[in-house]
Amino acid sequence: MAVLRRLSALARMPLQLARFLSAAPALVEDARRSAKVAGRLERRVEKLQQELRAARDEGRALRKELRDRLLQYNLLLGRLSRARPEDAGPDRALSWRELPLHLDERREMEWEGVGGGEAPPDPEGREWLSLDRCPMCGHEARTIVNPFNKFVLMDKAPDNTSARYDFAVCHACGISYASRRPVGSRYRFMLRHFGEVTGKAGGDAEIKNPLLNPYALSDADRDRLKQLASRGVWVSEHLGLRKTEYLEGLLKDRFDNSVHLDLLSSLVAPQWRTKARVLEIRPRAGTISEGLRRLFGADVHAMAIWESQQLLLQEVYGIESRGLIDFDQFDIPYEGTFDLIVAQHMVMHSVRPDRFFAAVLQHLAPDGHLYLYNEPDDAEFLQGGQSMLAHLNPLHLQTFDQRSLARALGARGLDVVFIKRRNFNHMCLARRGSGGWTPMTAEERDARIRAYETARDRAVLALPPEFRGRFAAQWPEVVARGVAEGVADFDADGRLKLVRQR
Ligand SMILES: [Zn+2]
Repeated sequence: MAVLRRLSALARMPLQLARFLSAAPALVEDARRSAKVAGRLERRVEKLQQELRAARDEGRALRKELRDRLLQYNLLLGRLSRARPEDAGPDRALSWRELPLHLDERREMEWEGVGGGEAPPDPEGREWLSLDRCPMCGHEARTIVNPFNKFVLMDKAPDNTSARYDFAVCHACGISYASRRPVGSRYRFMLRHFGEVTGKAGGDAEIKNPLLNPYALSDADRDRLKQLASRGVWVSEHLGLRKTEYLEGLLKDRFDNSVHLDLLSSLVAPQWRTKARVLEIRPRAGTISEGLRRLFGADVHAMAIWESQQLLLQEVYGIESRGLIDFDQFDIPYEGTFDLIVAQHMVMHSVRPDRFFAAVLQHLAPDGHLYLYNEPDDAEFLQGGQSMLAHLNPLHLQTFDQRSLARALGARGLDVVFIKRRNFNHMCLARRGSGGWTPMTAEERDARIRAYETARDRAVLALPPEFRGRFAAQWPEVVARGVAEGVADFDADGRLKLVRQR
């Protein structure tokens, strides 16, 4: 029976097959249609996904925009509440560079070494001098206004502790000073790598101007300098000498610095009754000493900063320069007193100002004069366009304005006779005084501290973009204070920019 059933089923199969084959085209057509629909659906889903992504991006951008605008209004409200209308208004000029409101990338406070692989001294950090009082007037009260020196905008430094100086404004005399400063071998290392640590000559070890060469001289260097110097100062251009055949800087120095000779010829030399004794500390190329000797028969002596200048003073003018200046352990290597001591750019660099002024006063005749020049006025970065951080190279340890310098000198026993600001530099003539001086008023002190803090914020905002990351954590606060103080502002399109200094 089972066999019969099986046979009968087999007999029906062709029929089923025929039915199936007749329906197949329709089935195929159905399948094709379904595939089309599926394809269309897939494309639609993809498009929807794209739209969703775009909407999400837009939402994100809108949220950021909204957040930034809210921040902008908050910042502007902050400024309005401080009521400094003179900082805003249509006449303020903005820099071209846009500043970010937030910083996403941090940069560690780390530096590559200087000195071409030479190991830096003082790995244990012992050669730092911490000042607990003002190095000029001795007053203790102060406000730290800026932790850093110029290394924060450089890639290289002796080590990772070198950037921190903790500059403070003294509440009494008003100078600003590095309350943490390098001494000993740490300081000497920086002086030896002068070009690199000051960021001069693009931070290279080489300095092209032979008059300002800070490095030790080889015998070949000496021979070359002597040969160049043998042409003298007054090399006339009609001779057609190439600039590599003589020292063009000697005559430039005469023209540039004759202003100091004029001042001293007018205010000091007429008082000399006998042959005056003059000491020039850190002369540039000898213009002042040579002039005082030529015009007034002065007996002149010098203390040079570099070997190159020591050699040139001797070769060009026959002026003896004993030793090289030690900014840390300053001493005057001459006997007796001087009627005039001239010092160029020394107060700013002095590691121990008390020691420097003690040595000067010890060698100053009772009615002698001290003449300071090339001492930068801090107005250069408080009011002018200079960045305070760029100004504070690691060898610059004191900064001051005219009044602070006068007070600080008063505290050191010197009275100002004549002071003049020229090209953001002080020219200051002083003589032994009564030691009397008056500290700043509270109003002046507060204004000075605020000016320094604002200049610090401005310098941070003005950092080249690659160094901003060192201030990532503080950036929002710096932006907020910057806008409030009128250091930065938004342009018509809501972009944050620095306000140019007038
Ligand atoms: Zn002071």
